[in-house]
Amino acid sequence: MKTLTTTELLARNRYVTDEEESHITVNQEAAKATGTAERLIRCCPADVYSWAADGTVAVEYAACLECGTCLAVADPGTLSWHYPRGGFGIQFREG
Ligand code: SF4
Repeated sequence: MKTLTTTELLARNRYVTDEEESHITVNQEAAKATGTAERLIRCCPADVYSWAADGTVAVEYAACLECGTCLAVADPGTLSWHYPRGGFGIQFREG
């Protein structure tokens, strides 16, 4: 039996992107002031967060695994996160 890499496992998931509404919003000023911005970028296993050219935190919410890690590292008031609306988000195919 072949052992799959993390990238191969993630590629098996199905993502249904809500093109009208992001389920993640970063309070840019508060996130930078508290260090949350750096933690978000470092901790997200799906690389949802990154530094944009203008110095803000870019959010590629379509890749979110809905793991909740970012909620654990964000200071209060820096991040708004909720599950995607019904029918949207990730569908895991490998358990
Ligand atoms: S819930 Fe997980 S995958 Fe989604 S943005 Fe937060 S850390 Fe990244």
